[in-house]
Amino acid sequence: MSKVIIIGAGGVGTVVAHKCAQNPDVFNEIVIASRTKSKCDAIAKAIGASNISTDSVDADSVPQLVELLRRHKPDLVINVALPYQDLTIMDACLECGVNYLDTANYEPKDVAHFEYSWQWAYRERFEKAGLTAILGCGFDPGVSGVFTAYAAKHHFSEMEYLDIVDCNAGDHGKAFATNFNPEINIREITQNGRYYQDGKWVTTGPLEIHAPLNYPNIGARDSYLLYHEELESLVINFPTIKRARFWMTFGQEYLTHLRVIQNIGMARIDEVEYNGVKIVPLQFLKAVLPNPQDLGENYKGETSIGCRIAGKDKDGNPTTYYIYNNCSHEEAYKETGMQAVSYTTGVPAMIGAMMFLTGKWVKPGVHNVEEFDPDPFMEQLNKQGLPWHEVHNCDLEVDKI
Ligand code: NDP
Repeated sequence: MSKVIIIGAGGVGTVVAHKCAQNPDVFNEIVIASRTKSKCDAIAKAIGASNISTDSVDADSVPQLVELLRRHKPDLVINVALPYQDLTIMDACLECGVNYLDTANYEPKDVAHFEYSWQWAYRERFEKAGLTAILGCGFDPGVSGVFTAYAAKHHFSEMEYLDIVDCNAGDHGKAFATNFNPEINIREITQNGRYYQDGKWVTTGPLEIHAPLNYPNIGARDSYLLYHEELESLVINFPTIKRARFWMTFGQEYLTHLRVIQNIGMARIDEVEYNGVKIVPLQFLKAVLPNPQDLGENYKGETSIGCRIAGKDKDGNPTTYYIYNNCSHEEAYKETGMQAVSYTTGVPAMIGAMMFLTGKWVKPGVHNVEEFDPDPFMEQLNKQGLPWHEVHNCDLEVDKI
């Protein structure tokens, strides 16, 4: 018998719950717990399965989390709340002897800073407790790391150049909206860009480097170099990589809104006083922007996320390789009521949990996804709604930038 607790009842939590419920042979019991219990109840009602229960928790509080875990005694926590809660949830898991999985690395609330050091510092404690923690198991990070591990295992003797390319060619019909939590999303995009080159990190201005890239079934889209957290672990776990970069597409309309938001101070994450009340402008902005969970209904088009890799094949000859998944917003909405950005994050989180519960990804300690065998995960991507495609010896385009 296996039991999971999903913490967080947003767009991603909704998808994780749907996908776990579709696999009752692996997920015998499912608990959805979040700050606002009514959201958990709504998800459980929409799914309508008898093995789902709900609860409430403030995941900033270790004592509350400990009570929750003692009450339900799950095998695994699937953390799809916000990155701010990663460490409190990991602390509670250690205290209660529960395994852990998340989709985004820890961020302190007061600085937009992404790095794994805080969570990697838990390695020894998880290892000693005999518990597995799987970090970054969404799409990117997540599938991007599994794709890279799969390429290393099956196609390359040496990977030299890695470019992760993330395109959202969807249209939700709103002037401005973010596809997942606006606070987390805007913090990510407005910081400096950074990429890895010959053993060093190179910093760029925010969205300074961009170029049109062609995405399958979509065409050319302007793609911007961003720092993204999986680069940090991938260059360590695959030390032959000479250069690693991350690209994301944005439309002009989106960028114009973003520039205005920044220029007028609404992207600030420090407190300001307004009418005697302290508010954080970016948190206030989140309250007035469209809710990412409500975008699904009219969302048209596809996402396309993949890895473009150059290096030497198993015989030592130069080779190029592109592996990707395209996901339709409409199909994702039909299945789960959420758009493709939540879908492409929630499905891999469920698969990671499935890998753990079926004994394929069990390794005491704290690990990034690329440290596990990619094959059973890749097999499930094809079965669970995120089929992937490979192209060999193709023009990767990224070598010209
Ligand atoms: P949402 O904002 O839609 O949902 C977040 C959920 O967490 C909400 O239900 C919220 O509760 C809950 N929550 C927030 N704070 C607390 C708390 N203190 N205690 C308990 N629950 C809390 O976010 P998304 O679903 O879009 O994203 C979820 C996670 O997925 C984020 O960490 C995000 O960074 C990550 N992500 C990862 C991606 C990847 O590819 N790896 C891509 C996209 C997202 P309430 O409703 O009460 O506010």
